[in-house]
Amino acid sequence: MTLLEEYQQKRQFGKTPEPKGKIKKTCLSRFVIQKHQATHLHYDFRLELEGVLKSWAVPKGLPEEKGIKRLAVQVEDHPVEYINFEGRIPEGLYGAGTVKIWDRGNYKLIEKTSNRIEFELLGKKICGRYVLIKLKKTKYKTTKPQWLILKQANENSKELH
Ligand code: MN
Repeated sequence: MTLLEEYQQKRQFGKTPEPKGKIKKTCLSRFVIQKHQATHLHYDFRLELEGVLKSWAVPKGLPEEKGIKRLAVQVEDHPVEYINFEGRIPEGLYGAGTVKIWDRGNYKLIEKTSNRIEFELLGKKICGRYVLIKLKKTKYKTTKPQWLILKQANENSKELH
């Protein structure tokens, strides 16, 4: 199973304006946050990594102050082209609703293990160090892995003040 199989199986590319895409390794480290007004409003947070966009649905959006934890539900990897996607997914299709880019920019990867990803986001609205922490599976079998996203203190500002 390739990394994009789940993404492609869920979509009908003759009907959705979303890109079919393919795995594409670049030298860039970009992120995007797309505001997705679907059945429930949420923010899709995506990191360009290993030729795809690693993706999380964050119902309340990324925290803008440190100390606040937000749930981030990991969803299927998206193709790198999706980083530019904005549009309306028609009724009846997977993810039906409108998608708008809320913020984008580059990021610096600080540390990555299977259950913890630490990085610095360099966006227009979102700027600073963040960490994603994977939660242990609960007794309720959720199909999608749940993570928490937290904003961290900025190393530089700690030294300066
Ligand atoms: Mn979404």
